[in-house]
Amino acid sequence: MECSFCKKEIKEKLGFKNVFSKKKSFILCESCKINLNINIEQLGEYTLYYFADYEFLKDSIYAIKYGGDIEECLKYKSLFRKFFEEYNFDLITIVPANNERKVIRSFHHIEQLCTLCNIKFEKILESDYRPKQAKLHKQRAGHSFYILSSIMPDTNISKVLIIDDVFTSGNTLLSCAKPLKELFPNSEISFLVLAKSMH
Ligand SMILES: [Zn+2]
Repeated sequence: MECSFCKKEIKEKLGFKNVFSKKKSFILCESCKINLNINIEQLGEYTLYYFADYEFLKDSIYAIKYGGDIEECLKYKSLFRKFFEEYNFDLITIVPANNERKVIRSFHHIEQLCTLCNIKFEKILESDYRPKQAKLHKQRAGHSFYILSSIMPDTNISKVLIIDDVFTSGNTLLSCAKPLKELFPNSEISFLVLAKSMH
């Protein structure tokens, strides 16, 4: 039997109970059991879900973000599956890549993570980062995002989820929530991140 997250072998006596539940159960090793959970936090009108403190997942997130490590992305598959078994959304989207970084790394790690973990997301937002204007706006706080022109407003969408890797100040996710709220005025917006930074 192996840990559903880190794949470490878990030594356990096979009683009748776990023989029958072996196949589809979600099992964590001792370390993952302590550190991983579906944590929920209310941020004003928004709900934040996160799996762990940043300290526990920082090496893993680094490997995904800067190395595009596919194996590392796949570790989250069962966690995401468990999350979506418990929570339903009408629409799932992702925080868009900063355009300059996307060019340098040639991939968008959140998009890769979600694709590998079979999350059905739609691309709705685009970052408005333009290299030539960067200097002029250097002092500007936060980020701005705009809605892709192909996306139409919809008043029937009631639950929206935005996925990102890390929640630190919340600036990025809150900036994403703003245009989404205009697009889906009757929606309740939630965030899902792998980890939350505690400072
Ligand atoms: Zn584990």
